[in-house]
Amino acid sequence: MDFKARRRKAMAVAKVAGVDALLVTHLPDVVYLTGFTGSNGAVVLLGGRAVLFTDGRYTAQAKAEAVGVKIVVEKKAAVVVACAWMEAAGVQRCGFDGTQTTVAGLEAMRRAVSGKVRRAMFESVGALVARLREVKDADEIAAMRAAALVGCELFEGLLGMMQAGMTEVEVAGALEYAARLRGAEGMSFETIVASGARSALPHGRATMAKLPKRGFCTLDFGVVLGGYCSDMTRTLHFGKAQPREWEVYDSVLEAQTAAVAKVAPGVTAGEVDEAARSVLRRDGLDQYFSHSTGHGVGLEIHEGPRIAAKQEQVLEEGMVITIEPGVYLPGKFGVRIEDMVLVTGKGGEVLTPSVKAWIEL
Ligand code: ZN
Ligand code: ZN
Repeated sequence: MDFKARRRKAMAVAKVAGVDALLVTHLPDVVYLTGFTGSNGAVVLLGGRAVLFTDGRYTAQAKAEAVGVKIVVEKKAAVVVACAWMEAAGVQRCGFDGTQTTVAGLEAMRRAVSGKVRRAMFESVGALVARLREVKDADEIAAMRAAALVGCELFEGLLGMMQAGMTEVEVAGALEYAARLRGAEGMSFETIVASGARSALPHGRATMAKLPKRGFCTLDFGVVLGGYCSDMTRTLHFGKAQPREWEVYDSVLEAQTAAVAKVAPGVTAGEVDEAARSVLRRDGLDQYFSHSTGHGVGLEIHEGPRIAAKQEQVLEEGMVITIEPGVYLPGKFGVRIEDMVLVTGKGGEVLTPSVKAWIEL
């Protein structure tokens, strides 16, 4: 990972925003800029310098992970030490991420510096680093490809063991254990296994409910591998299906395929959303599609860009997004299909190529 290039880019954008230093406290941004993965860390970028502030628990880890970065270890909260350090270094205007800083956090930052600089010192520059993170570099794309492929292998492994009568938590447990055996550091989010009428819950976390003899089961899960998140959804069917179940599945699959086909650099996020939504509208199902079409994914499971109705943001080569339309008929059943898609020079490349055709167990 070329952390130095990322820091250079972040500092260049910060300069354009009119600040002479950048304070980074959102932990995924700290990882992005330095490689440091501890739970207490703040980074200051000042000119060509980068300083990582942390505490004694992380001395060895910080040295090992944040190569080429000056490391300051103190007992106090990293952000407080960072602010005092900046004042001593003569920083006049420090940019911070106002979308990730709480009111209490900003007060702590102000208290950490003296009255004479306090008033003009801190200026929100928005989600500056998070915006840079939307476009992945080659190392990140390689990491995300690997994470996505592990997701596909796990899904294919589950197909051989899932059967009616198993509980949803058993399925989630088997999946998560297999993920660990393949080297996952964890899951990207709480595994969703939503079976029978529960498949109509877009975020139905695994419960003690049993997989049905007849009906759908939606699996939505991801692994964290090499620091990067994967995310995919497939909906399976147990036993003989009703015609209505077929119809809805076909419609969601067509919507998902249409949105994937729309992905290309220069296309807006809203146009991709509309590609999915218009198929469901044609089939009278758009009122049951109650969320947006997708989201960026990377160090965090949900990042920019948002793939939602009327979003003007233009897709760029190197972004990795999900495409995950769904239809949820309350009390009956639901269907969602989700892939991770890399925006390439001329279109979109699906990173999760597991089968999407109707699967009957
Ligand atoms: Zn998902
Ligand atoms: Zn997702």
